[in-house]
Amino acid sequence: MLVAYDYEEAARRITPADLRIRPHHMWRYRELLPVLDDDNIVTLGEGGTPLLHSRVIGEALGMPHLYFKDESGNPTGSFKARGLGMAVSRAKELGLNKLIIPTAGNAGTAVAAYAARAGMRACVIMPEDSPLTFMLDCRLHGAEVELVKGTIADCGAVAAEKADKDGWFSVATLKEPYRIEGKKTLGYELAEQFDYDLPDVIVYPTGGGTGLIGMWKAFIEMEQMGWVGGRKPAMVAVQASGCAPIPRAWENGESTAAPWENAQTVAAGLRVPGAIGDFLILDAVKQSGGVAVAVSDRKLIHYTGELAAREGIFSSPEGGAALAALVRLVEDGSINPDRRVVVFITGTGYKYMEAMETILSDG
Ligand SMILES: *Cc1c(COP(=O)(O)O)cnc(C)c1O
Repeated sequence: MLVAYDYEEAARRITPADLRIRPHHMWRYRELLPVLDDDNIVTLGEGGTPLLHSRVIGEALGMPHLYFKDESGNPTGSFKARGLGMAVSRAKELGLNKLIIPTAGNAGTAVAAYAARAGMRACVIMPEDSPLTFMLDCRLHGAEVELVKGTIADCGAVAAEKADKDGWFSVATLKEPYRIEGKKTLGYELAEQFDYDLPDVIVYPTGGGTGLIGMWKAFIEMEQMGWVGGRKPAMVAVQASGCAPIPRAWENGESTAAPWENAQTVAAGLRVPGAIGDFLILDAVKQSGGVAVAVSDRKLIHYTGELAAREGIFSSPEGGAALAALVRLVEDGSINPDRRVVVFITGTGYKYMEAMETILSDG
């Protein structure tokens, strides 16, 4: 289920010029967002994140136009704030007050915070081996937390059962259409930051894929409204080699992805063995002329360290995965170093202390 708008009407009501004077958070695109009454907006100031020109890594790779979209400064420390800020706001508008989510970590902390802000109850189901910070964070925000043996897939089954039995509303990835609407603001923001001449390549660490699907939707919407031309960025979906259902399906030329067995990676946000929107991710990658690739935990940890040491960006391991993939694709000639490339730093490193220790001990 995806949200559709009357784009002719929207194009009459809002233009890129109107945006210039609006505050820099995601609600500046409100004519293209699903919340009808401003009173229902539950916000902590999400969105409006910086696009940072690479200072050192780009030069080392011979890339004059390498950028990092740094989402680590969002409320709750990741870009999940965009999707769940939107989902919680819309849930409030629809009169819901009990939200449940299966999560690998960041989505849970976002629901917990936004539910607290909205005066709603939240229930978070996460793997028992999730980083401790995530559990403490959710509990402090007042959420009920249930720990489950296994991955987010097992958490999904528990959440679905609880939702049925106890009347919780599920804000699991793509179970409701509004998280995508929050994430699509990434696409609008990039367009603005590139002055409506979209970048050539987007490198995106992919779990459930809401950000990739959402940005792709934004590019199509902007084209329909005449804000951008038809040329869209090549979408590169990056996963960890310990959980790589999308790259595997891509290599086999499949349009859906079989679930990954024994999913393991320190990049918790990428530990999604079976994405419900697999076909949408694979379709966007294909239509955009992109590619899906997997990188090892060793590499993604190394490049998380490089982001901190060379660029001053304290990224979560998912951002390191995106950079590791870029380096590989430039080195093997798949990406021309003259291209304008955006690497997504999807969350802060502060929640992943265990992973950070590994980086230092690895040197
Ligand atoms: C959830 C998450 C991802 C994956 O995002 P999707 O949109 O679900 O693919 C990547 N990085 C971080 C830090 C995350 O929390």
